[in-house]
Amino acid sequence: MKVKAPCSSANLGVGFDVFGLCLEEPYDIIEVKKIDEGIEIEGKDIPLNPKENVAGVVAEKMLKDFNIESGVKIKIKKGIKGGSGLGSSAASAAGTAFAINELFNLKLSKLKLVDYASYGELIASGAKHADNVAPAIYGGFTIVNYNPLNVLHIDVDFNVIVAIPNVKIETKKAREIIPKEVSLKDMVHNLGRATGMIYALFNNDLELFGKYMMEDKIVEPYRGKLIPHYFEVKEKLKNLAYGVCISGSGPSILVIPKEEFQDEIIDILSSYYDKIIKTRVGKGCELYKA
Ligand code: ADP
Repeated sequence: MKVKAPCSSANLGVGFDVFGLCLEEPYDIIEVKKIDEGIEIEGKDIPLNPKENVAGVVAEKMLKDFNIESGVKIKIKKGIKGGSGLGSSAASAAGTAFAINELFNLKLSKLKLVDYASYGELIASGAKHADNVAPAIYGGFTIVNYNPLNVLHIDVDFNVIVAIPNVKIETKKAREIIPKEVSLKDMVHNLGRATGMIYALFNNDLELFGKYMMEDKIVEPYRGKLIPHYFEVKEKLKNLAYGVCISGSGPSILVIPKEEFQDEIIDILSSYYDKIIKTRVGKGCELYKA
């Protein structure tokens, strides 16, 4: 079973830990084959011990829960290295859950696949968070709620540009620097923007969606400082793009471009950062057709 497992961008400014967006590119290719027993991982620049690889953890849990006696060999071709803020580990976790569901004909719901994939996130980041695995499974735009886990999905389609600055930001550090408590005033500010973004999506108003996405008062002021030139670049792109925000915990930067300024935006981003990806909203995990 060969699956295309897309990267994703969590948070989208004011939607910290809740909003997620699936990206068409970059993606992992996850190939899962039945073997007699055990779990084997093959791939480059990732842990090969199945207990340390998100794919191995997801596979182990699913095989155990469904009393599957055979083992699996998981071949992972990474589209992007971990720690970029593009849900790299989530892509592998989601792709594995999707592939095992197909291979063993388990007929699980998308929500159940998100739940299984989030077991992988537990070992990648220490929390069973689902804000990247949800968009990787559902595609489009997702809203995650916990206790109990639920995913709300909105089908959207627009262009996206991603810049990947050449610095490494540890998710743990990016979490430590944000305040543990927020004022009622900032909560009201962010809540209005976040709910407004959903209103904007249902009204096909990308201008309003992007404007509110950029007005985070709680997390971005702290995390933006970890990314070289972030605030300067955001200011430069303000009138060329609908929206600019930090992707996940960074350092990647997500830009929703205005069609007519795409080339200009890419030129500006290229003058600061080495790697720029032009893509669009993705449709979630799917069988890979070479
Ligand atoms: P991202 O910024 O892409 O979301 P994460 O923090 O989610 O990055 O994941 C990176 C961590 O997950 C790294 O420590 C990496 O070793 C680990 N990891 C385990 N399995 C995988 C995998 N299959 N693909 C990518 N990263 C993995």
